Amino acid sequence: MSAAFTRELVERASRAILEHREELTALDRAVGDGDHGLNMARGFEAIAASAEELAALPFGKALDKAGMTLVTKVGGASGALFGSLLMAMGRTVRDCPAGRPEVADMLRAGVDAVRRRGKSAPGEKTMLDVLAPVLAVLEEEGAGADMRGRVRAAAAGGLAATRDMIPTKGRASFLGERAAGHPDPGARSSELLVEAVCDVVDGRRDESARAGVARGR
Ligand code: ADP
Ligand code: MG
Repeated sequence: MSAAFTRELVERASRAILEHREELTALDRAVGDGDHGLNMARGFEAIAASAEELAALPFGKALDKAGMTLVTKVGGASGALFGSLLMAMGRTVRDCPAGRPEVADMLRAGVDAVRRRGKSAPGEKTMLDVLAPVLAVLEEEGAGADMRGRVRAAAAGGLAATRDMIPTKGRASFLGERAAGHPDPGARSSELLVEAVCDVVDGRRDESARAGVARGR
């Protein structure tokens, strides 16, 4: 993974979160305490501020450091959970002998870390309801064809499904059935981040295709 890739990921992911800060806060106002936009923005502003430092690191270490930033800068549950996600993904990259693990292996480690940390599972109206369906797509055999289209659809479908779920974890669980009818804020953040990663990968594919054409391939 190049420095440019890390830089682009940081830029897109932070922009996605910062541009949707108000929406995330509004979602959390409906089912929680109304700080999710602020929490995520604080964390991703700090990540964006260290973009150059992150880009200079090997990819696994960059993920680890970004995760640690979320854990230390974000007060809410989401800081610990998104931080654990990124740190576990980073560990998978560092532990892989060639340094290029499968994306599915990275995300599986991340999802497992969130499940352990949150003592939660898919179906409880949380960020896991987006991340687990995305992981399922990545784990499918022969996932080649339109992989990112299916990843995006899984993220959007997972987010939509949280609307009618009754929360049993996190602050939203205090509302119980009254939370039904509102999508989960952490699921929306997760969907925004999945979209941002797909955008970066799609953009780079387009660029290398154009470069190939330019070279007469
Ligand atoms: P807080 O709940 O401390 O106010 P945030 O509002 O920033 O923190 O984040 C809330 C989001 O965190 C929820 O929408 C949900 O997606 C996620 N979340 C909370 N608790 C858990 C948990 N135990 N497992 C998985 N995700 C959780
Ligand atoms: Mg909150």
